[in-house]
Amino acid sequence: MIIVGSGLAGLALAQDLAKSGDEVRVLDKARGVGGRASTRRWQDRMVDHGAQFFTARGERLEALIFGWLAEGWLKVWTRGFGQFEKGEFLKLGEDSYARYAPTEGMNRIGKVLSQGLSIGLETEIVRCERRANSWLLEDSRGNFYEDEQVIFNLPAPQIVALLGEVCQTSPHPVLHSLCHTLEPVRLSPTFTLMLALEKDLKVDWKGAQSSGHPISWLSRDHTKRADSAPPTLVIHAANEWSGENLERDKTEVERQMLIHARELLGDSLEHSFSQLHRWRYATPEVFYPDKCFWDLELGLGWCGDWCGTARVEGALESGWALAERILAQGRLLESAGGVSKV
Ligand SMILES: Cc1cc2nc3c(=O)[nH]c(=O)nc-3n(C[C@H](O)[C@H](O)[C@H](O)COP(=O)(O)OP(=O)(O)OC[C@H]3O[C@@H](n4cnc5c(N)ncnc54)[C@H](O)[C@@H]3O)c2cc1C
Repeated sequence: MIIVGSGLAGLALAQDLAKSGDEVRVLDKARGVGGRASTRRWQDRMVDHGAQFFTARGERLEALIFGWLAEGWLKVWTRGFGQFEKGEFLKLGEDSYARYAPTEGMNRIGKVLSQGLSIGLETEIVRCERRANSWLLEDSRGNFYEDEQVIFNLPAPQIVALLGEVCQTSPHPVLHSLCHTLEPVRLSPTFTLMLALEKDLKVDWKGAQSSGHPISWLSRDHTKRADSAPPTLVIHAANEWSGENLERDKTEVERQMLIHARELLGDSLEHSFSQLHRWRYATPEVFYPDKCFWDLELGLGWCGDWCGTARVEGALESGWALAERILAQGRLLESAGGVSKV
């Protein structure tokens, strides 16, 4: 089986299948695993520019967290956030609920989940073809990968971009209508601005949520790291604002975000360098109506946070649900030579 995308859903799925003895290979266009739960190494810093922290409501993630805390790379980062409303600071909202963050960055979760797996990085799948009994994938360098079973762990619009033509032209009745089930799924964009601060902010929160304003989130990212970590601020633009400014020149987006951040934090916000990241598909807004999809006859499936809940735990649970579905059907293609580069 080939899994396209090493987001947390894809890795959770791959781990469960591999533990059951199935041969899986994960391909991802990025240089590292973990997808949107990612960390940028930036000069002398590590900065989480996607997911900021995670929470656990289900038993399976709670059990994993228990082990990860004991291993020492995960900590309870905070138990509440500062709250801004319409540009005004309201309060520090402590609620005693644990928000977890790895001390060396959110991508640690993906690294842990990818242990023992076969992963091909910097492999962007650009084309997908349905053969008689298999799928043929082509990457941006012209390499081909063929397997009877393919899972996509990509944001839904990116699956549609890859599968669209196959769906439209296929005589197979299920495949023909399949893309229509993905088309309603929507993910909104987010701009992340990272600032290397001259000095830390004089505030009593580690992270702060903001509503009714172009900025939706502020995080003193260094408070997740060792005490000596240099002060770093992560700023998210609100989804709506990000959508309105999506195609704007990045220098201008950064300038505007700084103006809006100063509306919340004051003019004393000084930084020595900065970086902007645009997430075109950040937050699911319209969800797929099931936790995952799997069709044994087609050998096709998908998973991701847009199949469940828009957060780290939602992605993991979608991957676990898909593994359960595949294993319950009791027939994963035996493929010692099944995943072949042709
Ligand atoms: C800015 C931001 C802040 C967030 N904050 C939080 C938070 O604080 N707490 C929380 O719980 N969640 C947060 N989330 C959500 C969380 O990051 C996601 O729910 C989760 O990481 C999604 O995982 P996934 O497996 O569904 O997919 P993704 O992480 O999107 O993985 C998809 C993978 O597919 C790869 N890919 C894409 N196209 C191709 C291709 N053509 N070929 C090969 N590979 C490809 C990508 O490189 C990526 O690795 C945040 C997300 C963003 C963007």
